[in-house]
Amino acid sequence: MGGFGSGGHNSKGRSLVEAQYRLDASNLQRRGLTRLGNVSQLSWKDHDGSIGRSIRVIGGNDAITLEYSWRKRDGAWQAHSERVELDRVARNLGGEETYFLCPRCSVRVKRIYGAGVRYLCRTCHALVYASTQERPGNRATRKNQKLRRKLGVEIGLGDWVGPKPKGMHQKTFDRYRARIQIAESEVYDDMLVLLGRMEKHRVNHTAKIRRQFAALPFWR
Ligand SMILES: [Zn+2]
Repeated sequence: MGGFGSGGHNSKGRSLVEAQYRLDASNLQRRGLTRLGNVSQLSWKDHDGSIGRSIRVIGGNDAITLEYSWRKRDGAWQAHSERVELDRVARNLGGEETYFLCPRCSVRVKRIYGAGVRYLCRTCHALVYASTQERPGNRATRKNQKLRRKLGVEIGLGDWVGPKPKGMHQKTFDRYRARIQIAESEVYDDMLVLLGRMEKHRVNHTAKIRRQFAALPFWR
Protein backbone atom coordinates (compact mmCIF):
# COMPACT_ATOMS: atom_id res chain seq x y z
CA MET A 1 0.00 0.00 0.00
CA GLY A 2 1.05 3.49 0.59
CA GLY A 3 3.01 6.02 -1.29
CA PHE A 4 0.72 8.70 -0.02
CA GLY A 5 2.50 11.62 1.52
CA SER A 6 1.23 13.20 4.65
CA GLY A 7 0.15 16.69 5.37
CA GLY A 8 -1.26 17.49 1.96
CA HIS A 9 -3.23 20.67 2.10
CA ASN A 10 -4.57 22.91 -0.58
CA SER A 11 -4.72 26.69 -0.56
CA LYS A 12 -7.93 26.70 1.47
CA GLY A 13 -6.24 24.64 4.14
CA ARG A 14 -8.49 21.64 3.56
CA SER A 15 -6.87 18.25 3.36
CA LEU A 16 -6.63 16.52 0.04
CA VAL A 17 -7.91 12.99 -0.33
CA GLU A 18 -4.93 11.98 -2.42
CA ALA A 19 -2.54 12.88 0.35
CA GLN A 20 -4.01 10.85 3.17
CA TYR A 21 -3.19 7.43 4.59
CA ARG A 22 -5.86 5.56 2.75
CA LEU A 23 -7.31 2.14 3.45
CA ASP A 24 -9.16 0.34 0.70
CA ALA A 25 -11.66 -2.38 1.60
CA SER A 26 -11.06 -4.37 -1.62
CA ASN A 27 -7.32 -4.26 -1.03
CA LEU A 28 -7.71 -5.56 2.54
CA GLN A 29 -10.05 -8.26 1.31
CA ARG A 30 -7.45 -9.42 -1.23
CA ARG A 31 -4.86 -9.51 1.54
CA GLY A 32 -7.15 -11.71 3.60
CA LEU A 33 -7.46 -9.12 6.33
CA THR A 34 -11.22 -9.20 6.36
CA ARG A 35 -11.03 -12.65 7.94
CA LEU A 36 -10.59 -13.53 11.58
CA GLY A 37 -7.12 -14.56 12.62
CA ASN A 38 -5.17 -12.60 10.01
CA VAL A 39 -2.94 -9.80 11.13
CA SER A 40 -0.72 -7.55 9.05
CA GLN A 41 1.38 -4.43 9.36
CA LEU A 42 0.75 -1.73 6.73
CA SER A 43 2.83 1.37 6.30
CA TRP A 44 2.88 4.54 4.24
CA LYS A 45 5.86 6.59 3.29
CA ASP A 46 6.07 10.36 3.55
CA HIS A 47 7.56 12.58 0.83
CA ASP A 48 11.03 12.31 2.35
CA GLY A 49 10.92 8.50 2.16
CA SER A 50 10.55 7.98 5.89
CA ILE A 51 7.71 5.91 7.27
CA GLY A 52 4.85 8.32 7.77
CA ARG A 53 2.50 5.89 9.35
CA SER A 54 2.54 2.27 10.22
CA ILE A 55 -0.59 0.49 11.38
CA ARG A 56 -1.37 -2.98 12.59
CA VAL A 57 -4.49 -4.38 11.01
CA ILE A 58 -6.17 -7.13 13.01
CA GLY A 59 -8.50 -8.96 10.71
CA GLY A 60 -12.00 -10.03 11.62
CA ASN A 61 -15.21 -11.27 10.06
CA ASP A 62 -17.44 -8.50 11.35
CA ALA A 63 -14.91 -5.80 12.02
CA ILE A 64 -11.23 -5.05 11.73
CA THR A 65 -9.16 -3.25 14.33
CA LEU A 66 -6.51 -0.70 13.43
CA GLU A 67 -3.75 -0.08 15.92
CA TYR A 68 -1.26 2.71 15.45
CA SER A 69 0.57 5.54 17.07
CA TRP A 70 -0.59 8.99 16.33
CA ARG A 71 1.53 12.09 16.66
CA LYS A 72 -0.20 14.84 18.54
CA ARG A 73 0.25 18.53 17.86
CA ASP A 74 2.73 18.87 20.70
CA GLY A 75 4.87 16.17 19.06
CA ALA A 76 4.11 13.43 21.58
CA TRP A 77 3.04 10.01 20.35
CA GLN A 78 -0.18 8.46 21.47
CA ALA A 79 -1.43 4.93 20.86
CA HIS A 80 -4.76 4.72 19.16
CA SER A 81 -7.07 1.89 18.26
CA GLU A 82 -9.92 2.14 15.81
CA ARG A 83 -12.54 -0.52 15.31
CA VAL A 84 -14.03 -0.50 11.83
CA GLU A 85 -17.12 -2.59 11.15
CA LEU A 86 -17.37 -4.46 7.88
CA ASP A 87 -20.31 -4.98 5.60
CA ARG A 88 -20.42 -7.68 2.95
CA VAL A 89 -22.48 -7.51 -0.18
CA ALA A 90 -22.98 -10.46 -2.52
CA ARG A 91 -21.64 -9.85 -6.02
CA ASN A 92 -23.87 -10.58 -8.99
CA LEU A 93 -21.42 -13.09 -10.40
CA GLY A 94 -20.63 -14.80 -7.12
CA GLY A 95 -18.37 -13.97 -4.24
CA GLU A 96 -18.75 -10.97 -2.05
CA GLU A 97 -17.62 -7.39 -1.88
CA THR A 98 -16.40 -6.02 1.42
CA TYR A 99 -17.13 -2.48 2.57
CA PHE A 100 -16.24 -0.46 5.62
CA LEU A 101 -18.85 1.16 7.77
CA CYS A 102 -17.39 4.54 8.67
CA PRO A 103 -16.67 4.43 12.45
CA ARG A 104 -18.31 7.80 12.83
CA CYS A 105 -21.28 8.09 10.48
CA SER A 106 -21.78 4.35 9.72
CA VAL A 107 -22.15 5.02 6.02
CA ARG A 108 -20.96 2.13 3.81
CA VAL A 109 -17.78 3.11 2.00
CA LYS A 110 -14.95 1.51 0.03
CA ARG A 111 -12.26 3.71 1.53
CA ILE A 112 -11.44 5.29 4.83
CA TYR A 113 -8.69 7.83 5.43
CA GLY A 114 -6.27 8.33 8.27
CA ALA A 115 -6.43 12.08 8.49
CA GLY A 116 -5.78 13.30 12.00
CA VAL A 117 -6.20 10.70 14.69
CA ARG A 118 -9.07 8.65 13.25
CA TYR A 119 -9.78 6.52 10.19
CA LEU A 120 -13.05 7.85 8.81
CA CYS A 121 -14.86 8.31 5.53
CA ARG A 122 -14.11 11.17 3.17
CA THR A 123 -17.20 13.11 4.21
CA CYS A 124 -16.44 12.87 7.92
CA HIS A 125 -12.94 14.16 7.33
CA ALA A 126 -14.27 16.83 4.95
CA LEU A 127 -11.63 15.78 2.45
CA VAL A 128 -11.73 17.11 -1.06
CA TYR A 129 -10.30 15.68 -4.25
CA ALA A 130 -7.63 17.77 -5.94
CA SER A 131 -9.38 17.23 -9.26
CA THR A 132 -12.56 18.94 -8.06
CA GLN A 133 -10.54 22.05 -7.28
CA GLU A 134 -9.56 22.53 -10.85
CA ARG A 135 -10.47 25.84 -12.41
CA PRO A 136 -13.70 25.67 -14.42
CA GLY A 137 -11.77 27.14 -17.36
CA ASN A 138 -9.46 24.13 -17.52
CA ARG A 139 -12.33 21.71 -17.64
CA ALA A 140 -14.08 23.74 -20.33
CA THR A 141 -10.87 23.94 -22.36
CA ARG A 142 -10.52 20.17 -22.36
CA LYS A 143 -14.15 19.76 -23.35
CA ASN A 144 -13.70 22.24 -26.18
CA GLN A 145 -10.61 20.43 -27.46
CA LYS A 146 -12.32 17.06 -27.35
CA LEU A 147 -15.32 18.36 -29.30
CA ARG A 148 -13.13 20.09 -31.87
CA ARG A 149 -11.13 16.92 -32.36
CA LYS A 150 -14.35 15.02 -33.06
CA LEU A 151 -15.21 17.50 -35.77
CA GLY A 152 -11.67 17.49 -37.09
CA VAL A 153 -11.22 21.25 -36.73
CA GLU A 154 -8.34 23.30 -35.44
CA ILE A 155 -7.75 23.20 -31.70
CA GLY A 156 -8.10 26.63 -30.20
CA LEU A 157 -10.61 29.26 -29.26
CA GLY A 158 -12.94 31.27 -31.40
CA ASP A 159 -14.48 30.92 -34.82
CA TRP A 160 -13.61 28.11 -37.07
CA VAL A 161 -14.62 27.06 -40.51
CA GLY A 162 -14.92 23.44 -41.33
CA PRO A 163 -17.17 21.17 -43.26
CA LYS A 164 -19.38 18.65 -41.57
CA PRO A 165 -17.45 15.39 -41.29
CA LYS A 166 -18.59 12.78 -43.79
CA GLY A 167 -21.28 10.51 -42.47
CA MET A 168 -22.22 12.80 -39.57
CA HIS A 169 -25.84 13.85 -39.31
CA GLN A 170 -26.51 17.58 -39.59
CA LYS A 171 -28.30 17.46 -36.25
CA THR A 172 -25.25 15.91 -34.56
CA PHE A 173 -22.99 18.45 -36.20
CA ASP A 174 -25.18 21.33 -34.98
CA ARG A 175 -25.24 19.86 -31.49
CA TYR A 176 -21.44 19.65 -31.41
CA ARG A 177 -21.13 23.24 -32.60
CA ALA A 178 -23.51 24.41 -29.88
CA ARG A 179 -21.55 22.50 -27.25
CA ILE A 180 -18.30 24.02 -28.48
CA GLN A 181 -19.82 27.48 -28.11
CA ILE A 182 -20.99 26.73 -24.59
CA ALA A 183 -17.58 25.35 -23.61
CA GLU A 184 -15.84 28.41 -25.07
CA SER A 185 -18.10 30.83 -23.26
CA GLU A 186 -17.19 28.97 -20.05
CA VAL A 187 -13.51 29.40 -20.88
CA TYR A 188 -13.99 33.14 -21.47
CA ASP A 189 -16.03 33.53 -18.28
CA ASP A 190 -13.24 31.98 -16.27
CA MET A 191 -10.65 34.16 -18.01
CA LEU A 192 -12.64 37.24 -16.99
CA VAL A 193 -12.67 36.07 -13.38
CA LEU A 194 -8.89 35.65 -13.49
CA LEU A 195 -8.35 38.99 -15.21
CA GLY A 196 -10.58 40.64 -12.61
CA ARG A 197 -8.37 39.23 -9.88
CA MET A 198 -5.22 40.39 -11.65
CA GLU A 199 -6.64 43.88 -12.06
CA LYS A 200 -7.56 44.04 -8.38
CA HIS A 201 -4.06 42.89 -7.53
CA ARG A 202 -2.53 45.50 -9.88
CA VAL A 203 -4.56 48.33 -8.34
CA ASN A 204 -3.60 47.29 -4.81
CA HIS A 205 0.01 46.90 -5.83
CA THR A 206 0.15 50.35 -7.50
CA ALA A 207 -1.42 51.96 -4.45
CA LYS A 208 1.17 50.29 -2.25
CA ILE A 209 4.05 51.49 -4.43
CA ARG A 210 2.64 55.04 -4.39
CA ARG A 211 2.44 54.98 -0.60
CA GLN A 212 6.03 53.75 -0.41
CA PHE A 213 7.26 56.51 -2.72
CA ALA A 214 5.24 59.12 -0.84
CA ALA A 215 7.04 58.05 2.33
CA LEU A 216 10.46 58.74 0.76
CA PRO A 217 11.93 62.14 1.74
CA PHE A 218 13.02 63.28 -1.74
CA TRP A 219 9.61 62.67 -3.17
CA ARG A 220 8.03 65.51 -1.23
ZN1 LIG B 1 -18.18 8.99 7.92
